[in-house]
Amino acid sequence: MSQPRPTTDPSSSPTARGARQVPFTKIVATIGPASEDRVGELIDAGLSVARINFSHGEEGEARERIAKVRAAAQKRCTPIGILVDLPGPKMRTGTFPGGRVELVEREVIRMRTGSGEALPGEVLIDVPAIHESLKPGHRVFLNDGQIEILVEDGFGETVVGRVERGGSLGNRKGVHMPDSVVDYELPTPRDRAWLKFAKELDVEMVGVSFAAQAKELREIRALIPNAAIVAKVERRAAVDNLDELLEEADGIMVARGDLGVELELADLPLVQKSALAAAVRAGKFTITATEMLESMIHSSRPTRAEVTDVANAVLDGTDAVMLSAETAIGDYPVEAVQQMSQIAFSVEQSQRYQHRPRLKLNPAEATFFNAIAMAAVHTANALGLKRIVAFTETGNTVRLISRYRPNAEIIGLSPNPSVVARMTSLAHVRPVLFRREVSLEDMIHIASEALELRGVCESGEEIVIVAGVPPGVARSTNVMKLHRIGEEVKFH
Ligand code: PGA
Ligand code: MN
Repeated sequence: MSQPRPTTDPSSSPTARGARQVPFTKIVATIGPASEDRVGELIDAGLSVARINFSHGEEGEARERIAKVRAAAQKRCTPIGILVDLPGPKMRTGTFPGGRVELVEREVIRMRTGSGEALPGEVLIDVPAIHESLKPGHRVFLNDGQIEILVEDGFGETVVGRVERGGSLGNRKGVHMPDSVVDYELPTPRDRAWLKFAKELDVEMVGVSFAAQAKELREIRALIPNAAIVAKVERRAAVDNLDELLEEADGIMVARGDLGVELELADLPLVQKSALAAAVRAGKFTITATEMLESMIHSSRPTRAEVTDVANAVLDGTDAVMLSAETAIGDYPVEAVQQMSQIAFSVEQSQRYQHRPRLKLNPAEATFFNAIAMAAVHTANALGLKRIVAFTETGNTVRLISRYRPNAEIIGLSPNPSVVARMTSLAHVRPVLFRREVSLEDMIHIASEALELRGVCESGEEIVIVAGVPPGVARSTNVMKLHRIGEEVKFH
């Protein structure tokens, strides 16, 4: 089991609040009925980003959840990023008399477009003109892949198929047609309404469900310019177009739930690994999601396989690991976050973690920005320093340093609360709200005292400092300084 990193007990002094224990790998947890009134406990257990899933519930409910997350974060003086997840063009079934139907293997059923109640022997699918998309030989997966139907025939607007793998099907379950070309628009009209709401609430990150092309992300970015755009990789098209998605997105989510239906399940592990590696190369952040500790929905302990899955994602260099139903509706939301923290801590102390995928230093990018970021990472690694302290106005400096995946922790100090909250998704980054001072001398002096007081840095510890002078100018990174905590700062 892991050794805690040295830090003062947050309860021992009021100034030490904020020095809670979090792993380098960030934890994203979906907030739902099981956790909305326990966000403080999730934060204590290691939460960094709260996810609000817009696929379920109404605006009022989402607004209340976001308010609860923000209140808990404020109470603990801990920045927590808010990731809202758009519903996107998720295909769903209609409804059934009594709310459920049993589909039996070899049975022939009819499928047609609709969102209402199905007649006996029928499944309605809430996608326009499915008879144009579904051809004989195409597969239709229902209930996120549990049930499989093979299309045999069609007449008019009705499609006839045979149940290849049966099961029990409830109302409005997910539908996948991996062999068919389905026309859809993204963002959907419903996504647009949610985006308007998300912009009003000034959320930090937006998850784009079923993204397939960069132009969809550009359109969403125009609607909510201050949020980080997270492209969810959950369709085959997203895997095929990953490079263009990575170019436009700020980060990606390997959304294994839907992706596992679109692809052969056995292909999922390698797609996950190559998507994470591609994102590291592109300098974008990553979230590995879905069924990470699935058994903890009803069990207080995860399975061995789940623990290994989380550990592998950390070793593959993911920035964040995500909990979905485990924290939204599960019986053990706090324990699930605790387990993730412990697994990440344990892996991060290993030698193997030092060899996780990382971007090679890139001297070809001839900018002050990049030169300073490379120098900071190189210096921290060469001297074995545990912390790089970066003053950042926009977060760009921190993102640049983090993409080189130093072994050190990056303390990102920014006067801008929304920049601080956006940095919560980056591995190895500890975002801290910090008032801007007039001179770099004062900034370093005040920051070192504050970091020592909070138990983030130790007295006498050597750190690398990265800043821009004069302070307060965006995109001005031009200074790297080595500093010993507690020593006087004098530039003249
Ligand atoms: P969802 O996305 O939970 O919104 O479906 C994640 C996934 O598909 O894995
Ligand atoms: Mn999904």
